[in-house]
Amino acid sequence: MSTVSPKSPAQHRRGLFASFLGYYAGQMHLFIADIVCAIVVAGIDLAFPQILRTLTGGLFRQGSDAITSALVYLLVGFVVMYAVRFGCRYFVAYWGHVMGARMESRMREDLFDAYERMSLSFFDRNKSGDLMSRLVSDLFDISEAAHHGPEFLLIGFIEVVGSFAILSFINVPLTVCLGVVLAILVVYNLRANLQMKAVFRENRVRISNVNSRLEDSLAGVRVVKSFAAEDVEREKFRESNEAYLDSKVRMYRAMGRYQAGIAALMGILYTLIVVMGGWLIAQGQMEATDLATYALYISLFTTPIENILNFTETFQKAIAGFRRFKEMVDSQPEIEDAPGASALKVTKGAISYHDVHFAYDSGDGEGAGENPEVIRGLNLDIRPGETIALVGASGGGKSTTCALLPRFYDVDSGSITIDGQDVRSVTQRSLREAIGIVQQEVYLFDGTIAENIAYGNPRATMAQIEQAAEKANIAEFIETLPDGYETQVGERGTRLSGGQKQRIAIARVFLKDPKILILDEATSALDNESEHAVQESLASLSRGRTTIVIAHRLSTIKDADEIATIDAGRVVERGTHEELLARGGTYARYYRMQFEGARA
Ligand code: ADP
Repeated sequence: MSTVSPKSPAQHRRGLFASFLGYYAGQMHLFIADIVCAIVVAGIDLAFPQILRTLTGGLFRQGSDAITSALVYLLVGFVVMYAVRFGCRYFVAYWGHVMGARMESRMREDLFDAYERMSLSFFDRNKSGDLMSRLVSDLFDISEAAHHGPEFLLIGFIEVVGSFAILSFINVPLTVCLGVVLAILVVYNLRANLQMKAVFRENRVRISNVNSRLEDSLAGVRVVKSFAAEDVEREKFRESNEAYLDSKVRMYRAMGRYQAGIAALMGILYTLIVVMGGWLIAQGQMEATDLATYALYISLFTTPIENILNFTETFQKAIAGFRRFKEMVDSQPEIEDAPGASALKVTKGAISYHDVHFAYDSGDGEGAGENPEVIRGLNLDIRPGETIALVGASGGGKSTTCALLPRFYDVDSGSITIDGQDVRSVTQRSLREAIGIVQQEVYLFDGTIAENIAYGNPRATMAQIEQAAEKANIAEFIETLPDGYETQVGERGTRLSGGQKQRIAIARVFLKDPKILILDEATSALDNESEHAVQESLASLSRGRTTIVIAHRLSTIKDADEIATIDAGRVVERGTHEELLARGGTYARYYRMQFEGARA
């Protein structure tokens, strides 16, 4: 399991907050400027009705000459004021977002680093869709909160408190009435928010159902087609799509009710203010201009209140997202270099498995002892330069045996050594540099053929790449392509056959030139010609290297120097093909089942 250091909840919260602030570091100037600009915008918005009140209440009552001469000052004053507001608004909208985006980008990089650091078992336990959604949507929520947080909360706070103070100054009875309606508004908003949150949550679950249906159907498209099960898929998709539509309709109904409710409350508020204000004016207790100013301030009120209340949801999402993010970034890979680990020195390439036990960690919180052992006391000595074929029934532990050598997983007990050095005592980098792996499923990255052959070795020269392709029997084919080595492969490029991909992967390993090889022979049938070409290049690759091959073909088994039969996590027999057949044990039985009647 990945480990996170234990902390008390309070320490954890403080640590979380501190590390969140840490992402503002390096852009403190933007943060401060953002806040100053936000305050200026709020100040100007607050000042406007007051200025208008002063003008209508005082200046505009004087003669027309006085008004005309004041208009010039007014014009200049207003132009300056709104130019400043424009600049500040622009700063908040642009640089505020840039600040959020920069934080998000740094977090994304940190998260990607964490993913790259993790051991394979981590990827066994976590679905790639989930890891991707963390990288995209969690971080988006966080950056929204990081940017809008200070702005909404600060501007909102200043506007609400400021206008309330001014309103009380203008007229106390009206403000008491306003306060009551406002309290109702807040309660209504909180309740509506609570209801809408449930609707939103359901909506998210349903859209993710639609997505996973789609993903499943696309990933399994070959199965779907081969069972002619398009109708079944269509029906399943239609169901989840309708459920999503249904929840969306409910969401819009809730939103519609909410907005209509706010509008109704505002209507009540304005009616009350006008009627009460009119009565106060009639009683000579209020000026008409004050009432107009009053109405203007009220509109300043509601938007920030709504913003603040709505923001609590974004904020909660961001906190949850940041917590998940921190957990991931802080977790330690299960497999790490031992302190003071030295580089592996491969002198001859002798490999030795000694009484190895291993169980996959299912990651469901149970102790390691609960997981079934898949390797149970495996012993295997492989001589330098030898090719050993691992054979046996599927599920016996052949792939696992191979995965333990480059430390994709660590043994639970026992040891594995290369030229006498325990694989856990050397650096993972040097260990993995010494081992070349050709897998059944070849993965080609988006990019050119040349880049794919040189994968992991950006300093490789074109001559080296061509030489590797030559050795892997693929050079001739590459040269027939219009763009040759510059041909794009992967998602965006040329489609290659299974055999061609295999040989590109073999060229990759030729270029790497490791002393030790692990070959997982493809079980899927390549056509005869491809198979022959692949076999030939594999044979030449393994020459002079210690090779472990998970063998499925009789020809490979016969060509190997030795065969080890693996059954239920142990080596049960070892010898040449003839020796093992003569013995009439597990291998002989396996041979009869797999190959009797087949030709080598
Ligand atoms: P073989 O290569 O001989 O077919 P494997 O080494 O692939 O055998 O599998 C041995 C056992 O380990 C099987 O029971 C398999 O289900 C289990 N196993 C293989 N890979 C994993 C994994 N990543 N997580 C959990 N269990 C696994």
